[in-house]
Amino acid sequence: MKGKLLVIGFGPGSEEHITDRAKKALQESDMIIGYKTYVELIERLLDGQEIISTGMTEEVTRAQEAVRQAELGKKVAVISSGDAGVYGMAGLVYEVLVEKGWKQDTGVEVEVIPGISAINSCASLLGAPVMHDACTISLSDHLTPWRLIEQRIEAAAQADFVIALYNPMSGRRTRQIVEAQRILLKYRSPETPVGLVKSAYRDRQSITRTTLEDMMNHEIGMLTTVLIGNSSTFFYDDLMITPRGYQRKYTLRQKEQPLKPHQRLKKEAEPWALEQVVVGTSSREIADEALQLILGESNQPKEYIQQPIQSIFEVSVSPGVANKKFTPKQMITLAEIVGDEGSMEYTQDHHIKLQVPTSNPDLVVSELEEVGFLLAPVGEVLTLKACDFCEGEKKDSIPYAEALQARLGGMDLPKEMKIGFNGCGMACFGAVREDIGIVFRKGAFDLFLGGKTIGRNAHSGQIVAEGISPDEIVELVERIVQEYKEKGHPNERFHKFFKRVKKVCGFEFQDVSPSLKIELAPCGD
Ligand code: SAH
Repeated sequence: MKGKLLVIGFGPGSEEHITDRAKKALQESDMIIGYKTYVELIERLLDGQEIISTGMTEEVTRAQEAVRQAELGKKVAVISSGDAGVYGMAGLVYEVLVEKGWKQDTGVEVEVIPGISAINSCASLLGAPVMHDACTISLSDHLTPWRLIEQRIEAAAQADFVIALYNPMSGRRTRQIVEAQRILLKYRSPETPVGLVKSAYRDRQSITRTTLEDMMNHEIGMLTTVLIGNSSTFFYDDLMITPRGYQRKYTLRQKEQPLKPHQRLKKEAEPWALEQVVVGTSSREIADEALQLILGESNQPKEYIQQPIQSIFEVSVSPGVANKKFTPKQMITLAEIVGDEGSMEYTQDHHIKLQVPTSNPDLVVSELEEVGFLLAPVGEVLTLKACDFCEGEKKDSIPYAEALQARLGGMDLPKEMKIGFNGCGMACFGAVREDIGIVFRKGAFDLFLGGKTIGRNAHSGQIVAEGISPDEIVELVERIVQEYKEKGHPNERFHKFFKRVKKVCGFEFQDVSPSLKIELAPCGD
């Protein structure tokens, strides 16, 4: 009979946080080998297995004994707290096997069973401190030269990693954590949030929230994990939270970009992607620099690294509702405001979308307004797309377009919405294709609802009324938009909404989409 080694990470310590596989593996075993304290933690899960428990430092003995017993044909469980592959027994068991020339095919079977490591269990008790690029560093210099540990702390601090310090202190080892704090303070603010979690998910669990400056005024011991925040980690209502990125976009009348579920899959919403640029430096460059430090090519820390949240102000501008002509002064102002750091993009709806890194949006707004731009927020908002009224020749309906812009332009909605507004029956700017189409003709307005602008099944809106009196048009359109705002589902475009509710402001839905069945082609297909 061939034996088997089951290398088991049993998680932080509570029964609920042991995986099912780990429990079953313990029960499958003939023998349990582990550090005394750990054996006690899982003893209640056993049913008569032979137990070999040793002192903490006798890890090599444990691994050798486990291999010997397995070679004798036993199923041996080797236990580690947390995950066996994180400063645990897994590597050591393999090292002993390798020394003996063991091979997977011919030797005893080995199964490593994953567990929840302290970085994860401790983080969960503090809130969400890890979240972004993070690393673990063990401060134990028992098997690792202190010089290397120091270099790693230095590199991690410099690259703004969230850091989980394992083995921060023991009865004899008290100097390392003080040194670690000193190095970290070279790169991070004294106010950097720090969480100390002792005995996570065990009887004597304790959680302390402190700062980098103050951390040594609290108890830190062998059973503590020290979690150091990055430069954007914050405390909120006793929770330690690290934002998912270093950028927050915001637009007119808004302080911050609300998180929207569908945006999270885009590359620009994934700041940890290697190619992503964080304040002028890509994550890859930061990583390369850290690597160089570790390799010793450049031991000198370059500069104090702080990664403040970068605020990017987004706004869209156009020369006006009816006016489609930019002045040279306006173009110069745009170029100056956008500079090398920002961007400007011409959009489908006759606007230029600006992204300007600034924490002073008011100044940007006033500069843009001074040269006569019409400003609109960016996002799931209402945009009015008017024609140029034949360069002002057909100007009778312009005041209504302006009134609609003033009342509804930039309104927050379940999904972006466009109102097309054309000043004569030619409707040459394509008003009838928009979500709401308004066409001025013979002194009155025609109204189209539910156009589908995009897709292979695009279609114009359904004409719901002709000859609406100018006194009524603005108020009527406002009521339609309000109804959509109140009853539309998040992310539901107006044409879908109209189809679902069947009636908007008394106008009945009729299916005007092409009757021919065509294959839908989502993005990328
Ligand atoms: N294999 C373990 C780590 C062993 S090293 C794991 O993956 O979690 C021992 C260190 O782990 C301790 O000094 C402490 O820093 C951390 N640790 C392990 N269990 C912990 C717990 N329940 N609460 C807090 N820290 C813990």
